Amino acid sequence: MPSLLVKNSALLVTMDPGRQQIPGGGIFARDGVIEIVGHDDVLPNRADTIIDATGMLLLPGLVNVHHHFSQNLTRALPIAQDEGLFPWLDAHYPIWAKIGPEEIYVSTQVALAELLLSGCTTTADHAYLFPNGSRLDDEIKAAEEIGVRFCACRGSTSLGISQGGLIPDYLVESEQSILEDSERLIQTYHDPRPGAMCRIAIGPADPESVSRDLLRETLRLGRRHAVQLHMHVSESMDDVRFSLEKFDVRPVVDLAEQEWVGPDVVFIHAVHVNDEEINILAKTGTKVAHCPSANMRLGSGIAPIRSMLDRGVVVGLAVDGSASNDSSHMLAEVRMSMLLQRVAFGPKAMTSMQALELATLGGADVLGRDDIGSLEPGKAADFIGIHLDRLEYTGALADPLAATVFCAPVNVNLSVINGKLIVQDGHLISIDLPDLVKRHNQLSQNILSHAT
Ligand code: ZN
Repeated sequence: MPSLLVKNSALLVTMDPGRQQIPGGGIFARDGVIEIVGHDDVLPNRADTIIDATGMLLLPGLVNVHHHFSQNLTRALPIAQDEGLFPWLDAHYPIWAKIGPEEIYVSTQVALAELLLSGCTTTADHAYLFPNGSRLDDEIKAAEEIGVRFCACRGSTSLGISQGGLIPDYLVESEQSILEDSERLIQTYHDPRPGAMCRIAIGPADPESVSRDLLRETLRLGRRHAVQLHMHVSESMDDVRFSLEKFDVRPVVDLAEQEWVGPDVVFIHAVHVNDEEINILAKTGTKVAHCPSANMRLGSGIAPIRSMLDRGVVVGLAVDGSASNDSSHMLAEVRMSMLLQRVAFGPKAMTSMQALELATLGGADVLGRDDIGSLEPGKAADFIGIHLDRLEYTGALADPLAATVFCAPVNVNLSVINGKLIVQDGHLISIDLPDLVKRHNQLSQNILSHAT
């Protein structure tokens, strides 16, 4: 039962129900679970590992609820830099069709390295293209080796262009193999227990890319195994137009009619949702993954997060795929979420604390977890430490917590996941970054040069 003691922080932010902040606070954890949070006088003197957090702000680890790791092989693609969602996708498909198991494994390592260094300790990934023998297993392997808490979503596309979908026929899978592989992954990897390091979710890429049959069967499979259902919904106006033209109904209304809503359902984006649709989200407990940078990058629009929160919709934060954000920086995403809501709804639309809530408690709730998101006894020992004595925060120390959101996004100095040290002195313990960057760039160059 390895134990861990972190002490002498400048400030410990708990994100507990009272939003308690403890100057000089520390944490004692055993076997990956927090036992004590408080001042030195309530903490033990001994532990297997002791970390001196002098000068650091300690925060719960951030939760990234949506990503497409392998897209970091095609960041800032010249032919897609200035495109909206549908043409942006069309430009990438022939290149993504070249990805295989090695690309999946290495791009996952790169995505996780960026996420971990920027404060993330739990992440989801929504993989929905599986060309050339690609498997979700290779993402799970990389995540396990690095030690991140992971929600691996087995995505799907089955409706090619020839059948009225939007994806090239050569990239879609048969519906039977999608369902079989989804069930295999659930049975092999899904851990429903508190403290789980790996859970499986399932879900089509979007309603346009699968048949009604697969939509229904995916829902059935998810509910039978009590796993979450993730899907992109109403990311751009093109998505809404597609639904209106094909089904004569708006996307969220359509999905509600098919019972594709509920506390086990996560809609990615939900940018273009009207009042009626927000009410459906609130009434059914359907959750939302907010991806502000990707929405800005593709010119998709501004998700009405303020209105959703006001009506009790559960919202988490996500960097989204690395070809539509070009970065996996979680603290940068927290900042973007605060700024973007202010653009739409004014300066009081979101405070720095509310933005951090989206990235901690909100993210935990979106992923259906009550064991992460705050620093309290009984919760997982997932936390980050940031040195306050740094260039980016000079002049902002009257409110160190706000500095992490208002000031330039920084990399963390410390990250602990499940009671284990992952980032120490600003360096990832289990990854040789120069080697990884070199290998990744070679793979990226290969798929770009071989794309037709
Ligand atoms: Zn996405």
